[in-house]
Amino acid sequence: MNVDQLVAIDTHTHAEVSCWNPFDNYGEEYDRAADKYFGSNRRPTIDETVAYYRERKIGLVMFTVDSEAKLGRRRIPNEEIAEAAKKNADMMICFASIDPHKGRMGAREARRLIEEHGIKGFKFHPTVQDFLPYDKMAWPIYEVIAEHKMPAIFHSGHSGIGSGMRCGGGLRLQNSNPMLLEDVAMDFPDIQIVVAHPSWPWQDEALSLALHKPNVWIDLSGWSPKYFPPQLVQYANTLLKDRMLFGSDFPLITPDRWMADFEEAGFKDKVKPGILKGNAMRLLGLGQPAAAGACPASGRSAAAAG
Ligand SMILES: [Zn+2]
Repeated sequence: MNVDQLVAIDTHTHAEVSCWNPFDNYGEEYDRAADKYFGSNRRPTIDETVAYYRERKIGLVMFTVDSEAKLGRRRIPNEEIAEAAKKNADMMICFASIDPHKGRMGAREARRLIEEHGIKGFKFHPTVQDFLPYDKMAWPIYEVIAEHKMPAIFHSGHSGIGSGMRCGGGLRLQNSNPMLLEDVAMDFPDIQIVVAHPSWPWQDEALSLALHKPNVWIDLSGWSPKYFPPQLVQYANTLLKDRMLFGSDFPLITPDRWMADFEEAGFKDKVKPGILKGNAMRLLGLGQPAAAGACPASGRSAAAAG
């Protein structure tokens, strides 16, 4: 990434449709329920998303969610996103998603994606992937991630997917309690774990975990900052300012809206550059943010945290 040219790095964007595979309409009832819940049915292609971000000079991390075992729907190929990231290497990074039910075969895929496709991290969704984060089933994939010292994003908190469906679509919210990541954080200190979203109804669990385990980060995606719980803003302004990350959850929320609301949500000016870009640079190994200016302490604190 050419970070000097970017105004921000969005660490949480979704690939929604594949241009390589024909649309798989299996389980479309989940889409319709989600459209209703989110009040939107926008599903841009990968190229459309990248063009949107390029226009705004915002870098992006993009991934899909492989939930083939639980939902029975063919995933978007990780390779398709990786290829887009390669073509747009100045502003885009690809994380891979591998259903933990794939076990050792999934671990082989993880290794191949890292070595041959330039994958820089991984995304998990314990609710739609129907697994507990500390389940040994996922260990083979975690081992590969740890070996490469890469970040892994875990969805946390409520899920719009399944909301309002009979039996919640068979999906368990409880799998996405961030405290379930504690054993993963302890057994894999070389994985940088990103707890995605304000973790409602478990916001305090996420903050406690991040305060206690220095390899735990929080991305602020999925909600307008206007609605963030006050304690999340409080810790972003103080003890956790070096481990909070801008993320939108595009296309659910646009970076335009997120960044406009961020300005009004009570964040101190001195922590904003770190949240918007500097912290993501350290997480993604893109170098240290410039020491001059509004965020002089971030480099020092990061070293102390390790
Ligand atoms: Zn998301």
